[in-house]
Amino acid sequence: MLACVFKAKNSWVVEEVAEPECAPDEVIVRVKACGICGTDLHILQAEYFSDFPIIAGHEFSGVVEQVGEKVTQFKPGDWVTADPNIFCDRCYYCKINKNNHCLNLQAVGVTRNGAFAELVAVPEKCLFHIPEGLSFQEAAMAEPLACVIYGIQRSNIRPGEKVLIFGAGPIGLLLLCAFQKSGASLVTMVDISEKKLNLAQELGACAVVLADGSEGSKLRKIAPLGFEVVVDATGIPAVQEKALHFVQPDGTYLLFGV
Ligand SMILES: [Zn+2]
Ligand SMILES: [Zn+2]
Repeated sequence: MLACVFKAKNSWVVEEVAEPECAPDEVIVRVKACGICGTDLHILQAEYFSDFPIIAGHEFSGVVEQVGEKVTQFKPGDWVTADPNIFCDRCYYCKINKNNHCLNLQAVGVTRNGAFAELVAVPEKCLFHIPEGLSFQEAAMAEPLACVIYGIQRSNIRPGEKVLIFGAGPIGLLLLCAFQKSGASLVTMVDISEKKLNLAQELGACAVVLADGSEGSKLRKIAPLGFEVVVDATGIPAVQEKALHFVQPDGTYLLFGV
């Protein structure tokens, strides 16, 4: 099969590789759509806990090609998406239901081969059926959207609160949509790209502010006391530091970007 293989730091190639083998409790998925995540760039730049060579790609959807002998919930032809994280289910954190801190975390496309390929092997416990009417492209957004929804839960937003989001990339825009459905009265977006801000406005942002050096005074005008919830969706340390200044006293600061 063809796959995009990260060979070494900043070096990748599309080449013919062996097809993945199907373990008894795993499923082989024929990939139909796969997102490119900021994490994939970190992996390529050797800033993550992956080893080379690796086939990245962890935000994907596809069709079940083959199932292992112990698999009971899926059959060939099923449309699926996946949670790429494979928790050990037996460490301290898994046992106290905080498996996002799993001490033995593995992940499809991070510590084992992922979906920048025609076929990917996925443990059955990580797979989800796609509801009828959802396209493969939409279903490939399930993982980033799930991260966003968890972030919104952590923000403890209450009805009527004002939200400020730094970064109008795919994650910032997903946050915008999800905060609007979670009771925010006003969502303001900041970015260096006018094009991204236009999209944010189309998606319902109440205010968009271009980060051109004058954004501080504009944000003070929108919310003189600050915002109840401020989110960084850029992962840039300088922005993360600046964003903190716009949190209302007793507000919440959500560090989302990595
Ligand atoms: Zn991702
Ligand atoms: Zn664990």
